[in-house]
Amino acid sequence: MTNETWGQVREELIKRVGKNNYTTWIEPLRLSHLKNGVASFEVPTTFFGDWVSRNFADHIRGELAVAGTPVERVEFTVGAMSERAPAKPAARAAKAARMRPSGTDEVTGAQLEQRFTFDNFVVGKPNELAHAAARRVAEGGPVTFNPLFLYGGVGLGKTHLMHAIAHELKFSRPDLHVLYLSAEQFMYRFVQALRDRQIMDFKELFRSVDVLMVDDVQFIAGKDSTQEEFFHTFNALVDQNKQIVISADRAPGEIKDLEERIRSRLQCGLVVDLHPTDYELRLGILQAKLDHYANQYRGLTMAPGVLEFLAHRITTNVRVLEGALMRLFAFASLVGREINLDLVQECLSDILRSSEKRLTIEEIQRKVAEHYNVRLSDMIGPKRLRTIARPRQVAMYLSKQMTSRSLPEIGRRFGGRDHTTIMHGVRKIEELMAADGQLADDVQLLKRLLQS
Ligand code: ADP
Ligand code: MG
Repeated sequence: MTNETWGQVREELIKRVGKNNYTTWIEPLRLSHLKNGVASFEVPTTFFGDWVSRNFADHIRGELAVAGTPVERVEFTVGAMSERAPAKPAARAAKAARMRPSGTDEVTGAQLEQRFTFDNFVVGKPNELAHAAARRVAEGGPVTFNPLFLYGGVGLGKTHLMHAIAHELKFSRPDLHVLYLSAEQFMYRFVQALRDRQIMDFKELFRSVDVLMVDDVQFIAGKDSTQEEFFHTFNALVDQNKQIVISADRAPGEIKDLEERIRSRLQCGLVVDLHPTDYELRLGILQAKLDHYANQYRGLTMAPGVLEFLAHRITTNVRVLEGALMRLFAFASLVGREINLDLVQECLSDILRSSEKRLTIEEIQRKVAEHYNVRLSDMIGPKRLRTIARPRQVAMYLSKQMTSRSLPEIGRRFGGRDHTTIMHGVRKIEELMAADGQLADDVQLLKRLLQS
């Protein structure tokens, strides 16, 4: 693509993102190159790049595709026009170095996000096990569990932890060949190798790594030859006692269309789950981010209570939470105002509205009924049979946990039961979960399904 085409694409983007956004965020972009399915732009600051990447990357890709230059990815690098970039004597060389996406594995790995380090990862109850396991792998000592399988809902830190492992190992064990890539990239490379008749090279490469990390492995489910190749790679590495780290959006047993033998292999190591965030963790993450922004935006002030409000209201995932804070700062700095609850309402109304989309008791009952294979009507009906009463109590428990309804309100929606019955049901499930791992897993799974 020429700069001229980019000029035309920009024209189209005005319509897509609006004049204001265009002037602030799109106009300053400088196309630096377009190759291998990646369009790379120069941006003035890291923050600027993050912002555009989060908010407009899809628009840009969309318009590029319309203009006949589809790309797989757009990336933003802090370029020479940056005021913040350190002054280097050999300006051109420095520029060239900065333009190379930093942290790209020389051989074949995907780009690592600089800020996904252990230092930047806030540990709380929901993620402490996953964090501890990741730390262990990052020590680079003898392999104690293989693979490490990390799973959890979107935006809970799986990719962050994997990148953190890679960063740490690159630093402390530069002798090891660490390869991180998404399952999608694995497939892409595999298909490319098939096409270019370089399958031997492909195999050799993947069998020569010391640590292999494959992100979002659910992606290869149902893709038969890729699964097959993955399986062989996996086995070859395990046989050589090389560490493997895998992530997915759900537990191995819950990934549909995954070959049984792969599933059972994935379950052989340590399977850890990143739980949905709790209020404390969200607040901790916001506080950590705040320190970061406070440096970047000196002079902006924040009224008390804002972080607490955000942590309380935005419960979906960390990515959304971070995006909200970033937007607040950008907005406040544009309009030169203090960040307070009024500004939050003004600037984040869309996010707040969508996280308000309340889960209803009916949805919970439907999901639970489906999961346990009982009728929806049995959820509210009078049957006392254990096989029906237990799922009903699970639904009661989830209704109490996941909605803001009171016990009497919940009782009404369970066929007019008394609030003491609901309370009893909730307690029962709490007790059983403590004693019965299977039930606890069931409840976790249902929670995740309901949250997504
Ligand atoms: P996933 O891969 O599970 O979908 P990511 O690892 O991409 O999620 O995380 C989404 C965003 O949230 C990233 O910007 C990441 O830095 C941030 N994040 C998630 N968990 C934490 C945490 N515990 N501490 C700090 N940042 C976090
Ligand atoms: Mg991820």
